[in-house]
Amino acid sequence: MKRTLTSVLVASALLSLSATSALAKVTDKDIENDATTPGDVVSWGVGTRGQRYSTSTQINTKTVKDLVPAWSFSFGGEKQRGQESQPVVSNGKMFVTGSYSRVFALDAKTGHKLWQYEHRLPDGIMPCCDVVNRGGALYDNLFIFATLDAQLVALDQDTGKVVWKEKLGDYAAGYSATAAPIIAKGMVLTGVSGGEFGIVGRVDARDAKTGKLVWTRPVVEGHMGYKYVDGKPVENGISGTLNATWPGELWKTGGAATWLGGTYDPDTGLAYFGTGNPAPWNSHLRPGDNLFSCSTVAIDVATGKIVWHFQSTPNDGWDFDGVNEFITYKTKDGKILGGKADRNGFFYVLDAKTGKFQNGFPFVKKQTWATGLTADGRPKFIPEGRPGDPAKSADGKKGNSVFAAPSFLGGKNQMPMAYSPDTGYFYVPANEWGMEIWHEPITYKKGAAYLGAGFTIKTLDPKDIGGNYIGALRAVDPKTGKIVWEVQNNAPLWGGVLTTKGGLVFWGTPEGFLKAADAKTGKVLWEFQTGTGVVAPPIAWEQDGEEYIGVATGWGGAVPLWGGEVAKKVNMLNQGGSMWVFKLHKH
Ligand code: CA
Ligand code: CA
Repeated sequence: MKRTLTSVLVASALLSLSATSALAKVTDKDIENDATTPGDVVSWGVGTRGQRYSTSTQINTKTVKDLVPAWSFSFGGEKQRGQESQPVVSNGKMFVTGSYSRVFALDAKTGHKLWQYEHRLPDGIMPCCDVVNRGGALYDNLFIFATLDAQLVALDQDTGKVVWKEKLGDYAAGYSATAAPIIAKGMVLTGVSGGEFGIVGRVDARDAKTGKLVWTRPVVEGHMGYKYVDGKPVENGISGTLNATWPGELWKTGGAATWLGGTYDPDTGLAYFGTGNPAPWNSHLRPGDNLFSCSTVAIDVATGKIVWHFQSTPNDGWDFDGVNEFITYKTKDGKILGGKADRNGFFYVLDAKTGKFQNGFPFVKKQTWATGLTADGRPKFIPEGRPGDPAKSADGKKGNSVFAAPSFLGGKNQMPMAYSPDTGYFYVPANEWGMEIWHEPITYKKGAAYLGAGFTIKTLDPKDIGGNYIGALRAVDPKTGKIVWEVQNNAPLWGGVLTTKGGLVFWGTPEGFLKAADAKTGKVLWEFQTGTGVVAPPIAWEQDGEEYIGVATGWGGAVPLWGGEVAKKVNMLNQGGSMWVFKLHKH
C-alpha cells in the first residue's frame, strides 16, 4: 500500500513537472486560440486577427469602479522616451519591451523582475519617430522582438539569453524596426521601418525556432520575392510589373515601409500588412499609383505571394502611410471582413479573402484632399489639395504650399484600434489636425532623409471639428459609417485600445490617464493617473481567478518630435517609463 502511494506521488510529481514545462512552451495552437483564452496574451493584437478584444468579464461596467493598482514597475535608467509596447503574458510571466530596444521579463502577478535585456545599439541608427518599440512575439520558449538597428532577436523566456539573432536590414541605409512581430504557422513575420530614407518595404517569414528565412516579399512593384530552400534563395516571382506604376528607376528606392507590422487570420491563411508612403514625399517626381505603397497587402503565408492588394492613397503626396492594422472579423452570415482606419482619414471595410471593397467613410471630421470614395474605394482627389510641383515654381525650389488635413501624423497613427464582436463597433483612437505642406526637389542619397517636402503641423479650427480638442476615441459602426459616440481629448491620442466582454473600452491619454468607458455609450466609468503619458495599448488577462489590466506608460513617440504647433501645445507633458497593472479591490 505504502509503495503504491509513493509511486502515485512520484507519478503525479512527474505529471505536474511535465505539465509545467509543456505549458511554458507557446505553441501555434496557443497563438491561433489567443483571442479566446483569457489566461494568456501571447500575440500582438490580443490574437493575430488584431481585435484587441478580451473575453474576460470580471472587470465590467459595474465593477470597474473598484479597479486599483496591483503593481507598477519602472523601466529605469535615463532612457525615459516613448513607450509604445504591448506586453505579452504567458504562464505567469510578462514580457514587455521598452524604449532603446530593451526587454523586461516580470512576474505578471507581483511585478518582480525576472531578467532584463538591453540590446547594444550602434551610434548611427536612424529611427524616424523616437526610439520606440511596440512589443514582441512568443513562440516555443522564445521571446522574439525587433530592434532599432534592424535586427530580429530571439531570447530564451527563462533566462533572457540570446538564442538567435538575424539582420532585417542595413541601419546605415536607414533601415530600422519597431513593430511587434507576429507568428503564423511556426513562422515569425516581420516588416521594416525607414520609409523616410528610401528603403524598400518588405515582409519576411522566418522559422520562428531558428530565425532562418523561409520567404521574403518586397512590397514595391518591380522587386523580386524569394523563397529559401536549404538556406539558398529561389526566385518566387516579382512583386509586380516593372515600371507599371512608377516612372524610371524610382521603384528601386520606393519606400512603402511595412513599419507597423501585420495581422494574420488563420481562417483565410493570409497575413495583412500595411505599407507606408512611396519615397520621396514629393509626388510630382513619380506620376502613377506607385504600387504597393499606401496599401494593404494580403500575403499567403504558405507561399509568400501577394494574393491581393488594396491601395488607399494612390500617388500619395502627404505622407499618408497606409500602415494601419487590418483587423479581420466575422459577420453574422459568416463572411470574413477586415476593417482599417487609414492615416488618410478614411475607414475601409474589405472582404478579407479577396480584398474587394465593401464600404468606406471618413472617421475624421476634416479632410482637404479628397471629397469621398468611388464605388471601388478609390479617393476622389481634390487637385488643389495636393502640394504644388516645385519644378513649376519661379526658382524651381519650392512648390505651392497647401493646408492639408489630416496632417501626416494621420487621422490615426501607430496606436492600434479594437473591435468588439458584442457591439460590432471599432474603437478608433483618432486625431483631428492639419499641416502646411510643400514639395521640394530631392535626389536619393544612401542614409539621408529622402523627403523632398517641408511641413508644419497645425491645430484645426474648433468650429470645423465640433470642439476644442485634437484626440477623440471614436466608436465607429463599420456597417453604417456612423460615429456612434466619441470621447474628446485635449492632446492627440497616441496609445491603443482594448475592449472587453465586460462591456468596456480601455485607452490611455498623453495627459497620463488610463480610462475605461462603457463600450455601448462611451460614458467614462473609470480613470487613473499614471504619472506620464500613455502611448501604448492596454491588455487584459486572468491569473489565479483574478482579471488584470496592464499598460506600459511613458510619453513620447512622433508627436513631440514632429508635431510643430501641436508639440508646443502639449510640451508640458512629462516623460516616463513604467509598466502599470490593475485589478479589482476586494471589499
Ligand atoms: Ca489568450
Ligand atoms: Ca511615412
